[in-house]
Amino acid sequence: MRPGQLYPRSDLYGYENLLSDPERDKLWQLRQFLDETAAPLIDRHWEAGTFPTELIPEVAKLDIVSPASITAGADRPRNLFGGFRTFEWARTDASLNTFFGGQASLFRTSILDGGSPEQVERWDPLVRDFSILGGFALTEPESGSDIARGLSTTAERTGDDWTLSGHKRWIGNAPIASHLIVFARDVADGAVKGFIVPTSAPGMAITNITGKTALRIVQNGDIVLDRVVVNERDRLQRITSFRDVSNILRFMRSDVAWGATGVQAGAYEAALDYVRERRQFGRSLGSFQLVQSHLSAILGNLTASLGMVVGLSQKQDAGTFNDEDSALAKSWVTTRMRESVARAREIVGGNGIVLANKVARFHADAEAIYTYEGTKEINDLVVGRAVTGESAFL
Ligand SMILES: Cc1cc2nc3c(=O)[nH]c(=O)nc-3n(C[C@H](O)[C@H](O)[C@H](O)COP(=O)(O)OP(=O)(O)OC[C@H]3O[C@@H](n4cnc5c(N)ncnc54)[C@H](O)[C@@H]3O)c2cc1C
Repeated sequence: MRPGQLYPRSDLYGYENLLSDPERDKLWQLRQFLDETAAPLIDRHWEAGTFPTELIPEVAKLDIVSPASITAGADRPRNLFGGFRTFEWARTDASLNTFFGGQASLFRTSILDGGSPEQVERWDPLVRDFSILGGFALTEPESGSDIARGLSTTAERTGDDWTLSGHKRWIGNAPIASHLIVFARDVADGAVKGFIVPTSAPGMAITNITGKTALRIVQNGDIVLDRVVVNERDRLQRITSFRDVSNILRFMRSDVAWGATGVQAGAYEAALDYVRERRQFGRSLGSFQLVQSHLSAILGNLTASLGMVVGLSQKQDAGTFNDEDSALAKSWVTTRMRESVARAREIVGGNGIVLANKVARFHADAEAIYTYEGTKEINDLVVGRAVTGESAFL
């Protein structure tokens, strides 16, 4: 049976009470899966840098992408639920959250918002039940922050076919995915377009990026596209410029802000458990004033972050949601996260760099979250442009 509060320690002001009972039931179901099935696998896969693919059919069984019990026929749950769902995943593990977000947010939103009604009808059921696994291929080796102008993968149309050539990097889930949304520049009109491409297509070569020091469970692809042929029917019909890509990124940045809040909750709860248990100078660490000061600072960051992302999701649900709203949350919450996980790591001492203590994993993974979906600087520039009316992008 679901407990009265899902987050008695991490949600001090009780924001979860804004959720309906069926929404909280669904989160509780997710919690049980994460605690019982996923959590025991995490450390081993983090250390090996591998993904537990055996979890994918189990995730599919949860009906968590667009749960029938709470969507009332809509194509998506409300953003407030989506936010808490991200919080729940990230509170357990940032890599698994990134995996799920790659499918349920990046890949799915590209199809729902970028596809024609026929494309949505064809692809979305396969995405929802994980019959296909997708990724979002935007970043390139030579273009990260400046991808809007620097994107150099080309798309050339001949009859009903397009030929894609170029190089993509960092693409989450790509090495285990069946399909990718590849963004490429149409050589005819210079506009950025999106294509659904099977990873098995002739000309696609995907290499897993190894040696990462963060999000080691996530499989990130380095991809070469050498004259990959895609039919016009698999070009996302409603992506006709980079503006359409930005509209997708606006939603993704909200997800990342929620994920960074969940990471703070995971690190905080693990550190709290530790300092109550560990004794030095004949007393528990948690009884020291300086340790309590760290806990208070983390809880302050976490509570403020939760308030911010809840407000953000409420704006999304009300349909009054702008680029700067999610850019501000992504920038600010990930900065707070970085401070929170560093404080949590500090009060766990030497054990704070050992995977078994959880805090170590949150501490390492936070670095990638701080960078992906636009760095702090880039998101600050989006906010700065909105509030001054002047673009400081060069
Ligand atoms: C784990 C991980 C997963 C990822 N997953 C995906 C994915 O699934 N799909 C995808 O398409 N991409 C993905 N990315 C790519 C990610 O979005 C980029 O790494 C990010 O946008 C930053 O680009 P960059 O790494 O090339 O950094 P750069 O653009 O090279 O930036 C380096 C530094 O310079 C700063 N900088 C750059 N320009 C300016 C400026 N004008 N003013 C001030 N400072 C500036 C940046 O803020 C940063 O601090 C992922 C990355 C990581 C690490």
